[in-house]
Amino acid sequence: MTTATERLSFSGWIDPPADPSPALDGERRCDVVVIGGGLTGMAAALRLDELGADVVLLESAFCGWGASSRNAGHLTPTIGGDPQLLATLFRRRAPELVRLADGAVHFTEGLIADRGIDCEYEPGGNVSAALTEGQMKRAEGIAAFLAGCGGEVELVDGAEAGLPHRFRGGILERAGGVLNPGLFTRGLRDSVLASGVTVHEQSAVESVDGTGAGVVARTGAGSVNAGRALLATNAYARDLPYAPPRVVAPLWVTLAETEPIGPGRLEDAGWTSTKGLYTQHVILESYRRTRRGTVVFGSRLPQTPRGVLGARVPDPGVVGDVVRGFHERFPSLRDVSAERAWGGFIAMTPSWLPVAGESGPGVFYALGYNGHGLAQAPYVGTLMADRLAGREVHDDLAAIWREVPRFAPAPLFTTPALRLGWAIDRISDRMMERRPG
Ligand SMILES: Cc1cc2nc3c(=O)[nH]c(=O)nc-3n(C[C@H](O)[C@H](O)[C@H](O)COP(=O)(O)OP(=O)(O)OC[C@H]3O[C@@H](n4cnc5c(N)ncnc54)[C@H](O)[C@@H]3O)c2cc1C
Repeated sequence: MTTATERLSFSGWIDPPADPSPALDGERRCDVVVIGGGLTGMAAALRLDELGADVVLLESAFCGWGASSRNAGHLTPTIGGDPQLLATLFRRRAPELVRLADGAVHFTEGLIADRGIDCEYEPGGNVSAALTEGQMKRAEGIAAFLAGCGGEVELVDGAEAGLPHRFRGGILERAGGVLNPGLFTRGLRDSVLASGVTVHEQSAVESVDGTGAGVVARTGAGSVNAGRALLATNAYARDLPYAPPRVVAPLWVTLAETEPIGPGRLEDAGWTSTKGLYTQHVILESYRRTRRGTVVFGSRLPQTPRGVLGARVPDPGVVGDVVRGFHERFPSLRDVSAERAWGGFIAMTPSWLPVAGESGPGVFYALGYNGHGLAQAPYVGTLMADRLAGREVHDDLAAIWREVPRFAPAPLFTTPALRLGWAIDRISDRMMERRPG
C-alpha cells in the first residue's frame, strides 16, 4: 500500500445520503415490518408495497449502509461458494441452484431497467479465470458440469475474451456483468422513498417479540406492531438476539481501487473487454474495470470481526496484500497505486448457500449470500415478499428454504482457517511463478 491510500469507513462508490429519513418515534402499526435496508430489505419492501401491503422499513443507519453499497459490483450467478464448490458439494441440487442464480441475475437486470436506475451497468458477464494450464483444465470440467445443469456458461480463451494477459481464460458466466453498486443501491433507495413504504432510517431494531396476533419490533425510541416481520440484516444478524443463532458467520472483506489508469494501458495489458474476473484461489481475488478508468479489486484475506459489527476501516496490512496481488496479476501496471480502500461484512453460512425461512411465529428471514448477493439479495427479498403476501412459494425460494431454523457451527470461517487458505494461495502463486503454465 502506498501511504496515499485513503482508507474509508463506508464505500468508495458513493457518499452517504445527505437526507436520512427520520428515526422511528412512538408507536406504529402495519402489515409487515422489514428490518434492514440493504438490497434484500428494500426489494422486499417495494414488492410488498406493490402487492398492497402496509409496510414499515426500519434501518439502523441509512438504506444501503451495509454490503449493498460496498461490494465489488460483479453481478454474477455465482452460488454455493464458487463453481468448483457447487460442483463438488451440491452435485445433486446443482440444477435448481444454478436456475436460482441465473434467475437472480436476470431479475436484477429487470429491476435496474424497470426502475430506470443508472448504475453504469456493463453486461458482458464475469469470468472465473484460470491463471495456469492446470486451472484451465479444471475449468473445462466445471464449465461442462455447469452447462449440463442449465447454466449460462462457456469455457473461453483469455485472449479471445479480452482478458488481461496473465489470465489464460476460464468459465465465462454469460449472465450479468459489472455495475456501480453504490449507484444501484442508492437508486433502489430512491424508489423505496418514492413508494408507499414508510422508511425510518437511524432506527436500529433491538428486539422482536411475538404478540399472539403478530409481532412487535422495538427500537430505542419507538415500536412497530406488525402482522409479520422480515429480517433482512445479512451479516449483522449475528449480533441480533432475535435472529436464529449461528445463522451467519460474518467476514470482513477488503477492496481497493487504483488511481485512474492512463488511456490504453489496460488494453495494452490485454484487458480489452469489460468482463469482471475472479481467480480460482482457495480465497478468490476479484478484479473489475470501472467507468472512471480505474480497477477495483480485492478479497485475498477476509477477516473475522472483532467484537460487535460496526463501522470499520480496512487494515493497512490487508490493503497492502491486495495491492501486491494486483501488481502480480498486472505486472505492466506496477507503477499504478491504490487511491483508496474500503471493506464490508459478507455473511457466510455453513452450507455456502443463502438461507430463508421462518424463525418463529410471524418472524421470517432471508440472508447469508456468502459474498454473492448483488443479484441474489434483491431476488430473494422479492420472492420472500411474495411469500409474506400469501403467494405460493416460488421454486427458487424453495431451493433455499429452511424448514427448521437450526444452523451448525462454521469452522472454516475462523481466523486460523482463513490464514491457512491465504497461505495455500500464496504457495500456489510462488509455484506458478517458478513453473508458469
Ligand atoms: C467487500 C464486498 C464485496 C462484495 N462483492 C460482491 C460482488 O462483487 N458480487 C456480489 O454478488 N456480491 C458481493 N458482495 C456481497 C453483497 O454485497 C451482499 O451479499 C448483499 O449486498 C447483501 O445485501 P443485504 O441487503 O442482504 O445486506 P446488507 O446490504 O448488508 O444490508 C443489511 C442492512 O441491515 C441493517 N441493519 C443491521 N442491523 C440492523 C438492526 N438491528 N436494525 C435495523 N437495521 C439493521 C444494516 O445497517 C444494513 O444496511 C460483496 C460484499 C462485500 C462486503
